[in-house]
Amino acid sequence: MPPRIKPLDKNVVNRIAAGEIIIAPSNALKEIVENSIDAHSSAIEISVKDGGVKLLQITDDGGGINKEDLPLLCERFTTSKLRKFEDLETISTYGFRGEALASISHISHLSVVTKTAADQCAWKCYYLDGKLVPPPTGGSSEPRPIAGKCGTSIIVEDLFYNVPSRLRTLRSYGEEYAKIVEIVSRYAIHTENVGFSCKKQGSSSTDLVIRAGMSRKDRIRSIFGSSVANELIDVELEPNSDIGLVKCSAYVTNSNYSNRKSIKPIFFINNRLVVCEPLRRAMNQVYSTYLPKGHKPFIYLALEIVPGNVDVNVHPTKREVRFLNEEEIVQSIVDAVEGKLSSLDSSRTFLTQQVITQSQRVEERLKRQPLDEESDTTHKRRSTASISSIKQFKRPYEKDMVRTDFSQATLEEYVSSQAVVGASEEVPRSNHVIDSSIEGRVIENHDDADADDVISDHVTLSDNEVTNSSNTSSLPAVVKLSSVNELRKEVESQLNVELTALFSKHTFIGVADYSRRLLCLQYGVKLFLVDYASVCNEFFYQVGLSDFGNFGRIRFSKPVDIRMLVKEEIYEDEQLMKRYPGAPDLDGLIQSVYVEMAEMLEEYFCMKVDVSDAENPKLLTIPMLVKGYIPSFNKLSLFLFKVGACVDWEDEKQCLGGILRQLALFYVPEPLSDLEDDAESRRSTSEQLENILFPLIKKRFLATENLVRDVVEIANLPGLYKVFERC
Ligand code: ADP
Ligand code: MG
Repeated sequence: MPPRIKPLDKNVVNRIAAGEIIIAPSNALKEIVENSIDAHSSAIEISVKDGGVKLLQITDDGGGINKEDLPLLCERFTTSKLRKFEDLETISTYGFRGEALASISHISHLSVVTKTAADQCAWKCYYLDGKLVPPPTGGSSEPRPIAGKCGTSIIVEDLFYNVPSRLRTLRSYGEEYAKIVEIVSRYAIHTENVGFSCKKQGSSSTDLVIRAGMSRKDRIRSIFGSSVANELIDVELEPNSDIGLVKCSAYVTNSNYSNRKSIKPIFFINNRLVVCEPLRRAMNQVYSTYLPKGHKPFIYLALEIVPGNVDVNVHPTKREVRFLNEEEIVQSIVDAVEGKLSSLDSSRTFLTQQVITQSQRVEERLKRQPLDEESDTTHKRRSTASISSIKQFKRPYEKDMVRTDFSQATLEEYVSSQAVVGASEEVPRSNHVIDSSIEGRVIENHDDADADDVISDHVTLSDNEVTNSSNTSSLPAVVKLSSVNELRKEVESQLNVELTALFSKHTFIGVADYSRRLLCLQYGVKLFLVDYASVCNEFFYQVGLSDFGNFGRIRFSKPVDIRMLVKEEIYEDEQLMKRYPGAPDLDGLIQSVYVEMAEMLEEYFCMKVDVSDAENPKLLTIPMLVKGYIPSFNKLSLFLFKVGACVDWEDEKQCLGGILRQLALFYVPEPLSDLEDDAESRRSTSEQLENILFPLIKKRFLATENLVRDVVEIANLPGLYKVFERC
């Protein structure tokens, strides 16, 4: 005989239902805090014992509960907030199902003290399984009068006393308490005009205090600290009735703030604390090009959507909501945040000041100057020839670039640390200089250690050096590739001690010739003429090796269509193509390098390629080898092409080394003419060489044997003095 079907006992039903809503003490707390906010409180005090299992007490100064309603308070589906189903569409309160208190009364010992403004005194009563019950000390179950202030105090004791399985699955008291503080802090940030406090019962210190009058920013500061609050940007969206967006306001951190420890994004949708996966993913995507890898922003975002478009009733704990036009709304938020981030990126000012004029000049020169007699001109000549198509294409001028890496020190910081180095400059013998620079520059290769260990290892290993280097504020990702290590070793093995000493102690004199790319350095009593193209080339290659996988990023505000750029500037130039007989065809280049290798390019070279359109991948970022130094984009297409044409992709070491070589060539300052047109770029090139590149070269450059022919002694001072003496 099959077993007979019988209705469940009401208490069993209620306890099962309670289990769905109240999973942990923090769920009960959330419901009760929401009730207090619904009751227009201006102060909510929370006291917790044993992670909320022993006691959760929430006291508010809201409207209170009518004495006549107290018998119904904990009945399931009794609420003052909803009358008919349609009301759900316009519901503006947190609660509406009348389930929370009922549920809590089925799995704990619940008592309530409440007083409305009309009441002469407060009323206290006890509940069990939805009903009023006598107090533990005995007597009537009727509410009894006691002294008290206006508002409501909900006291939950012995949560889950009758659900042992739930008790067993709880985390430690400490962790449950942390979850409670997290919930309270999120509501505290969102609910302006309401004060919050939260503490462990019996403790003299509160873990969270927010006064009612505090601004949202101060709330964030008080909870997450100044490191977050100082970097906040305020994002507001225009209402958009087409997609049902009423309002969206957000506080998010800018690209100065980055933290490996992530703060879960705080999303409120129509005042409900929710998790919204699509929004979270989209925001992470936005920040991925702004923050160093693995670092997270702080995000608070409150969204208001036309209530009729939102279904709040899809999840037992109401932590998820559904809404119409989700994709469009998420996209418009992403656009707004992205726009704000890029415009506020402090590098922006730096760049526009420094580079706008330069890019204008480049543009003008392309128009006016048909030929440049430089060695490096094939490419330029061709650019000139295809000037109209470049215009159509709108190549990414430097002013469209945003510096996004803040892991490296700022220029000023750099300059001042330079001063320190300068002061102790006489001390090291040349050998010592070389030793320390090797150690400081090259990230050790730990093939078999686990990543975390290696990171801490690395920090201690080269602590002293790191303080001096430009990469202080973020831990480098660890590169475990033995091929890269071999390449580093190769550089070290080609070290020229004397030349390295020269570069590490030189005094920068000035650029001698912009078209042949020569400058003067003084070392001791001697004057040298240096081919700065060769030196910079080698230097950028070394930076590439030592910072491998950990570069900053230069982000294009308009993604670069790789196919279009390379096609117009390279493939359509027959002269140029003749020089690369073995080069892959355009499709091959796009497919095998920029689509198939996109992940590798991003991982190792911080070259982010958007391959969502696999036919036309878009370049989003290129590495920033040296902070504050932006290469000339005249050579971008050639670089992108040569990564395919001149790099051996069969062998890992050849490939990585080859890409780094191409990258270095791309970053080398361009030769400039003596023409008036180039005056501005000559000035900025000289500035970059003197203030950015050569100070770094002084600090961290291993001069290799091949550079010997690029450094020529042109005079020594004693000799010169003798000449002068004779005059
Ligand atoms: P809901 O919030 O869904 O209505 P609850 O079980 O959470 O259901 O609460 C039931 C009712 O009790 C609420 O509708 C409200 O009228 C009343 N109530 C609960 N907590 C408070 C409070 N702190 N202040 C005033 N009224 C409250
Ligand atoms: Mg409620």
